[in-house]
Amino acid sequence: QNALPRVTYSNIQADFSGVHDLLDTVIAKVRAEVLGKAWPHRIGGEDVAAGDIYDAVSPIDNRILLGRFHRADAAVVDRAVAAARAAQKSWGAMPWQDRLVAIRHFADQLENEKFQLAAACLIEVGKSRLEAMGEAEEAIDLVRYYASQMEENNGFVRPLQRAFDNEETSDRLRPYGVFGVIAPFNFPLALSVGMLSSALIAGNTVVYKPSEFAGLTGALIMRAADAAGLPAGVLNMICGDGSAGQAMIDHQGFDGFAFTGSHKVGSDMLRKVASGVFNRPVIAEMGGKNPTYVAASADVERAAQGMMRSAFGLQGQKCSAGSKVYVHTSIREAFVERLVALTKSIRIGDPSGRDIFMGPIINETAFRRFEQASVDAARDGRILAGGNRLTGGIYDHGFYIEPTIVDSLPADHPLNRDELFLPFLTVQVFDDLEAAIADGNAIAYGLTAGCYASDQAEIDLFLDRAQAGALYVNRASGATTGAWPGIQTFCGWKGSGLSGKGGLGPFYLPQFMREQSHTIW
Ligand code: GLU
Repeated sequence: QNALPRVTYSNIQADFSGVHDLLDTVIAKVRAEVLGKAWPHRIGGEDVAAGDIYDAVSPIDNRILLGRFHRADAAVVDRAVAAARAAQKSWGAMPWQDRLVAIRHFADQLENEKFQLAAACLIEVGKSRLEAMGEAEEAIDLVRYYASQMEENNGFVRPLQRAFDNEETSDRLRPYGVFGVIAPFNFPLALSVGMLSSALIAGNTVVYKPSEFAGLTGALIMRAADAAGLPAGVLNMICGDGSAGQAMIDHQGFDGFAFTGSHKVGSDMLRKVASGVFNRPVIAEMGGKNPTYVAASADVERAAQGMMRSAFGLQGQKCSAGSKVYVHTSIREAFVERLVALTKSIRIGDPSGRDIFMGPIINETAFRRFEQASVDAARDGRILAGGNRLTGGIYDHGFYIEPTIVDSLPADHPLNRDELFLPFLTVQVFDDLEAAIADGNAIAYGLTAGCYASDQAEIDLFLDRAQAGALYVNRASGATTGAWPGIQTFCGWKGSGLSGKGGLGPFYLPQFMREQSHTIW
């Protein structure tokens, strides 16, 4: 369809000089031509410049103005819901095959612009080049994957059994109406596009709010949707911080919500939405602690490589980040030594650099959390690597911190239990794998879990016992990270999710529809 090179997990080891050269050009172009503009809300196909204005700056360098946005208030939300409601009638009534044509144009448009999207994402949230390119590819794959799910299921319409000769019965999934989509900063392309495209494919219209820290990528997604010719009002974008999100949650005109973010915000949202006039779905993915078990039979090198990538990729700001590792006493020394060596060799800086693995963390709030965690770790445990902020040069214009590894904390210490969303890994030793898995299961989250072992009995034990939606065994590219549409599912158990059906997998799309049977005599 077009000749842009693809970046996928299966070819990340290949020679990417072509990709790098192109990305360099596009990063420079985005910095010169895309940054610093005003991005009003997009409602019903029109720009709406309403609400307080705020400037967003890059975490890479706070002297870079990303853009100027408006904070949506209740009136803006109301206007967006009205536009989405007006557009839903024809969008929902359209044969699903026609909707897929429109949606696939959207995917094609994202593909045409994927280098620009990746470059914007790199500058906006401080993602490494590979993470940014991978994410742009994932966003495109998500749209195509969910579209293919609609096709595979024949639009979710099927005949049922009949009770009487003269009676025809059939079953179908139908759209709810208007969905509110509230996205996080960390995967501003893939998570936004995954949620909103599912809602749209299902026949809903959408009011989408990107994170206040990722309004630029949000605006570029919106621009791609407009360029693809999605009818006006089908996808609307409003900007703003938590107060705009709150205004969405309070609005009774939404028929459902899709959310990715923290456990606290997601759970509050569920309670709030449930207290409305009628029950509405909240499809939410809400973080994780993601324990990894390095068993006695593990390949130590592989485990250390995978653990380092999982804990510190994207500065640990992934719901899937491996932030806790259990290691068998017999290999503790070898594993920790290798892990610390790999961690100390990580290059940290402006992620436009080709050799940079870690960029800055997103903002000061995250940095304060890091400071506190480092103080607690030094007091209650032992810091094996990291614990400090970097200073000098570019480091003084963003929050660049050392990837941090801590051990000797009490098992029930909050640092061993709570999600930090930082490059912060705790190590705990074990003698008995079964007991270690039970301890990992006692954590309130259940998004992903990893295991390194060569002994089949140990692998089987992990697969049978670990309580999480995505389990990974012996993964070198990241112990608990890197799920891909149609390959893994991203299903939060326990405190990590509300719906029990994960993104990226085959059961995600149907959640955006409700069931109805037709019995006709
Ligand atoms: N899809 C990403 C992964 O599997 C994580 C997305 C998230 O942080 O929500 O690593």
